[in-house]
Amino acid sequence: MTILAEVLAANDQYVADFGDKGRLALPPARRFAILTCMDARLDPAKYAGLSEGDAHVIRNAGGRASDDAIRSLVISHKLLGTLEWFVIHHTDCGMELFCDEVMADLLDDSLETAAFDGTAWSNPKHGGGCTAGHFVKWLTIASQEESVYQDVKRVREHPLVPKYIPIYGFIYDVKSGKLIEVPKATEAGRA
Ligand SMILES: [Zn+2]
Repeated sequence: MTILAEVLAANDQYVADFGDKGRLALPPARRFAILTCMDARLDPAKYAGLSEGDAHVIRNAGGRASDDAIRSLVISHKLLGTLEWFVIHHTDCGMELFCDEVMADLLDDSLETAAFDGTAWSNPKHGGGCTAGHFVKWLTIASQEESVYQDVKRVREHPLVPKYIPIYGFIYDVKSGKLIEVPKATEAGRA
């Protein structure tokens, strides 16, 4: 089965078991939001105990507090009433494996998927690249504790974010599934 067929088959099953979820309200019932990484090993619904309709989950590479993530958080509170936010990065994140220059150089050479040998990235094929990657800030991560702290702080200090929203900083451990608090971050995010 192709991925497309697999997804559509899974959706047929989901629809069959959908129950009364069509009656859920638009605003999240438990009034909180999570900003986390897109990593395929992370399932926020499971690691944070969410059902459909419970909370907002905003995901991007690294779970970083990018301008667009902050846009979503501001909408989450201002229009949809969330009152507590979590920033959750994780161990063994892919964003720790490169820096802006490496990414820009790889893209400059080729747009096809690069290979990682455990130490360095390289392009299996060359040609057809693009220089535009040199103009992007990729929001890579050198230290998870530091990135969680920086992101909580950035959200906290944003002029469109009210002071009464607590922002908690955590690292999800991909080996155990445990959420580990980053006290410095939570402190920075205190309401
Ligand atoms: Zn990640």
